[in-house]
Amino acid sequence: MIDIKEKNILNDARIFSTMAELEHEQIMFCNDNEIGLKAIIAIHNTVLGPGLGGTRFYNYQSESDAIRDVLRLSRGMTYKASISGLNLGGAKAIIIGDPNKLRSEVLFRKFGRFIENLNGKYITAEDVGTTTGDMEYISMETSHVVGLPEIKGGGGDPSPVTAYGVYLGMKAAAKHVYGNDSLKDKTVAVQGIGKVGYNLIERLHKEGAKIYITDINDGNVKRAVADFGAISVSNEDIFELNVDIFAPCAMGAILNSSNINKLKCSIVAGAANNQLENEEEHGMMLKSKNIIYIPDFLINAGGLINVYSEVNGYNKKIAFDQTEKIYQTTLDILQKAQNENTHTQRAAIAIAENRIKQVMLLKSTI
Ligand code: NAD
Repeated sequence: MIDIKEKNILNDARIFSTMAELEHEQIMFCNDNEIGLKAIIAIHNTVLGPGLGGTRFYNYQSESDAIRDVLRLSRGMTYKASISGLNLGGAKAIIIGDPNKLRSEVLFRKFGRFIENLNGKYITAEDVGTTTGDMEYISMETSHVVGLPEIKGGGGDPSPVTAYGVYLGMKAAAKHVYGNDSLKDKTVAVQGIGKVGYNLIERLHKEGAKIYITDINDGNVKRAVADFGAISVSNEDIFELNVDIFAPCAMGAILNSSNINKLKCSIVAGAANNQLENEEEHGMMLKSKNIIYIPDFLINAGGLINVYSEVNGYNKKIAFDQTEKIYQTTLDILQKAQNENTHTQRAAIAIAENRIKQVMLLKSTI
């Protein structure tokens, strides 16, 4: 007989106090010993609609790390959907373990059954560690999944749409800073030339920008140099370049106290999620250095817009058209931050939270 009292589970994880602090609605823990499935679905806020967010498959060092990640990511999805004007809430799921060892049809189908139990309150999609093939397995057990391949009626790879949104956010930032939105002859440093980075520099090249790049993958660097005449620099030098725009398109938490001090750009606008290691401290630090930061959850929302358009039957043109709103929203946030003498991340969160409050009022009346 296992003595649950001895395990002190909830006290150690302080799950309810963390949920209360971050204002989460629901967390679902999913377990199957035979299959080896350990997953968490965190639903942050469903005022605007069902919570949509990808499933991350990652070998977390501890269960607390996993919980922290899923709570943080699901909250970010609420803001991303709200600021993009979508009728979607925020949620995210994680599967704990090494995807290369655990990936199987039955694991994803079982996970699909857990999603089905939520009756549409949560819609999943691809994320780090999961593929469109995994989404197909999930779709065998639930219809609450997007990000399927194009031949299956899905939107396919969302990266071109994400890159389009980043490009438009960058142009809006240029308009705010330089008075016009042309990127011709502007210097742009792009960190990470993967799916989004490559699509982004293709657009920048077409517009006549001078592009500097870095990537830990040599093949990606060579391709960008050959295709667009980009100039390759080291991973360290990318932060110190004397450029107009820095575009982080690799991994999250990339901006911290030490590298912000090295930046010489006027604008930070890139695709990576959760770019600021600490939202308040580093948002403020960029502001005090007079660097315009375009909040990641706004500028990289093209991917979410793309998968959202699958819910009502995918249409590529509609996805690209909706992404164009990022341009005006960027201008609005920059204006609000300037008027209120605050940093852009805070201004953007206020706009996202305000939309949720307004819709809540609407729902409280007939
Ligand atoms: P990707 O894996 O295709 O590309 C990432 C690139 O960054 C790779 O080429 C990788 O080699 C490089 N990289 C990793 N660590 C690096 C480092 N330390 N220095 C330099 N380069 C490094 O991913 P992606 O789909 O292009 O996404 C890029 C970023 O944008 C990610 O943070 C992702 O979460 C975010 N994002 C992507 C989408 C999308 O639609 N793909 C949507 C929203 C947000």
